[in-house]
Amino acid sequence: MAGMMKKFQDFSTWFDDTLFKAEIMDNRYPVKGFAVYKSWGAKITKKITNMLEDQLDATSHDPMLFPVTISEDDFAKEAEHIEGFTAEVFWITRAGKRKLERRMLLRPTSETAMYPMFAQWIRSHADLPLRIYQSVCVYRYETKATRPLLRMREFLWNEAHTAHENGSSAEEQVKEALKIYVDIFGRLGLTYYMLKRPDFDKFAGAVYSVAFDAWNPDGRVNQIGTVHNLGENFAKAFEITYEDTEGTRRNVSQTCYGFGISRVLAAVIGQHGDDHGLVLPPEVAPVQVIVVPIHYKESEGKVEAYAKEVYEGIKKAGFRVNMDSGEKTPGEKFYHWEMLGVPVRVEVGPRDLKERRVTISERVSLKRSSVDFDKAVSAVTEIFSSLTENLQKKSRLALEEMTADVRDMGSLKKAIDDRKIARVCWCGDVGCAETIKEESGGEIRGHRIDVEEKPDSDCVVCGGKAKKVVYVAKAY
Ligand SMILES: [Zn+2]
Repeated sequence: MAGMMKKFQDFSTWFDDTLFKAEIMDNRYPVKGFAVYKSWGAKITKKITNMLEDQLDATSHDPMLFPVTISEDDFAKEAEHIEGFTAEVFWITRAGKRKLERRMLLRPTSETAMYPMFAQWIRSHADLPLRIYQSVCVYRYETKATRPLLRMREFLWNEAHTAHENGSSAEEQVKEALKIYVDIFGRLGLTYYMLKRPDFDKFAGAVYSVAFDAWNPDGRVNQIGTVHNLGENFAKAFEITYEDTEGTRRNVSQTCYGFGISRVLAAVIGQHGDDHGLVLPPEVAPVQVIVVPIHYKESEGKVEAYAKEVYEGIKKAGFRVNMDSGEKTPGEKFYHWEMLGVPVRVEVGPRDLKERRVTISERVSLKRSSVDFDKAVSAVTEIFSSLTENLQKKSRLALEEMTADVRDMGSLKKAIDDRKIARVCWCGDVGCAETIKEESGGEIRGHRIDVEEKPDSDCVVCGGKAKKVVYVAKAY
């Protein structure tokens, strides 16, 4: 059933079309990999960002803002990190008429911008833990085909960076970060696999990485968030040390985590959207309720006045509500607000006026119902109380349908060709991981850490004893 939707048949066309018609993004900007957020898209983006920042503020993180430029010397300090990112870096080599003596780069991520400053700020155990964040654009020279929101050369994210006295405190921070992300993704009705990345795919410079891979209608997973335990790797490279209570100098232990704001928006659109356009969870809908007066010549003034009364009632109850009194036909207005994903539409026509009722239409189910004027607010409240949960249920079902248990290489290849996420048993050998990538086109994304999954068969490649149940998919 779900498979009949346009987004499952031709995701690319559906997505581009929806981004354009729902006024999320204009991808015609003349620099490849860069695009313009239009007003509706920017408003949703701001709401997603605020949700996350509020949660970070509430858990003892402090906002800061770091420069976009990083010196080449600092960037080169952590060996694995530089190796992991060099191919994607935008360099600044000239300024005005001069060639720069020392090159600078645009941050692809901000470890090497922040940590030289951490080394200056952190002196004693009293300065720890340090927890900061910023919501900014980062720059990566993607060589694969760019896609709006999903794979851009400039993208919006929130990055948090923390420093601690010891490894166990850093480990607690990783858990806290995962909890924060789970909370936000849940409030957006998103589903994903929370996976510990295999060692060969962890963040450059990290001890280990945990990532949130959200499903996308085309079967490619969309990494919407990552949490890294950095151990003392960067502390050593940047000499971030503190004096403990006994007066001994020690390295700090660090974590960092990134929340892909653009990609989260892409997941909200991709997972919840349908043939009529966007479907927005109430928390991020710039307009939650749209009141549409349906005019007929003789009753126009009265209908308008009654619609205004309905609008005021809903507004007073604290909802973000608009009234569309424009010149378009009711059908055009319905189409427009459905495309924008507004969760609830309230229609007010001459008949509603006569009976002092309103007609309520839900965006998710497109169901319409008629209620008394006095019940309008409670009806909207009722819809909203279960809406996000229902979106998440639908999304979870799609994720389950998209996941296939696979026990041999032939079925693995078929699963990836059929745009599925494959669950396979793996021996842990890097050679077997490479074979999987070469033969199926999908990559091992990691194993779940929120649920324990024990291998019940041998390695899908070599037939050796399997150590982990892992997920294989193509990825953005
Ligand atoms: Zn194997």
